[in-house]
Amino acid sequence: MNTDIAQLVSVALYSPKPDETVAFFHDMLGLEISHREGQSVYMRAYEDFYQYSLKITERKEPGLDEVTWRASSPEALGQLAARIGTSGLGIGWTENDYAHGRAYKFKFPDGHQHKVLWDLDYFQADADLASKLRSRPSKRPLRGVPVRRIDHVNLMVNDVVKNTDFMVDTLGFKLREQKIGDGGTVVGSWLSVSALVHEIGLMRDGTGSSGRFHHVCYWYGAPQHLLDIADVFSERDVHIETGPAKHGTTQAYFLYCFEPGGNRVELFGDTGYLIFDPAWKPVIWNVENAIDLEKSSIWFGGHLAKSFYRYATPVAPGHSLEEIGR
Ligand code: FE
Repeated sequence: MNTDIAQLVSVALYSPKPDETVAFFHDMLGLEISHREGQSVYMRAYEDFYQYSLKITERKEPGLDEVTWRASSPEALGQLAARIGTSGLGIGWTENDYAHGRAYKFKFPDGHQHKVLWDLDYFQADADLASKLRSRPSKRPLRGVPVRRIDHVNLMVNDVVKNTDFMVDTLGFKLREQKIGDGGTVVGSWLSVSALVHEIGLMRDGTGSSGRFHHVCYWYGAPQHLLDIADVFSERDVHIETGPAKHGTTQAYFLYCFEPGGNRVELFGDTGYLIFDPAWKPVIWNVENAIDLEKSSIWFGGHLAKSFYRYATPVAPGHSLEEIGR
């Protein structure tokens, strides 16, 4: 598939408990620390090819700092920057971010900050971390149940249509699945630039807030690992929100939990289904219909917690996990 954006590179998050957040990703999910700088820690999964896929920075409130995308070529980067600039959502060029070359920063209509780049640093393992498996950039860690690579990001937005249109018309994403609610309101979009069903999901923020972060997802490639990590989490008091279970949307086996800083993290047991059809028509779920509502979110394996539609970071007043309840 030929899109100007090629892939999701990294997600930068804020945490009020950065040491605990980093320990969670390092000890339980097996991420390696690639770099520390100022108030930030840069981490990667063992099959992430670039220098980092997760940046954790200390801040009073959890939430999203920035999402980074890689363009398909230097030319595509220039075309993207021009189109984003015309849309009025451009911030401008930067060259100062660790391990990332010249990048164009911009905002989504809802306010979330993103950047797109071509040049970036590939991870080069030291001898002790190097794998003999030549397609693997570093050894499989011995800690927790290690995830393999970053998979996708999910953002909450006030107006799903407006943000979806920006992603399709300006960034060149393909709309893969969508949920339509009361009176035809679009309540969720799943979009991709590859055969995956999504590298990004957008969901309507029922609290009326803007620019909030719903979750980042890392991929295992084997559903059994969800059962293994759920066992680890249960023993160590990590709050599992829902799962292990199977989504209707994307068809992936999943688990949602919260890292100690309060951000939601999803783990994918597999990839779900893949899309190779160049004339793909978006899958539409009508969630006014009770069967579509239930089956799109959870194909099987329990029910989504009430917090799923209202809890995001930063936490909206009156919508903390305690206030929402189970
Ligand atoms: Fe997800």
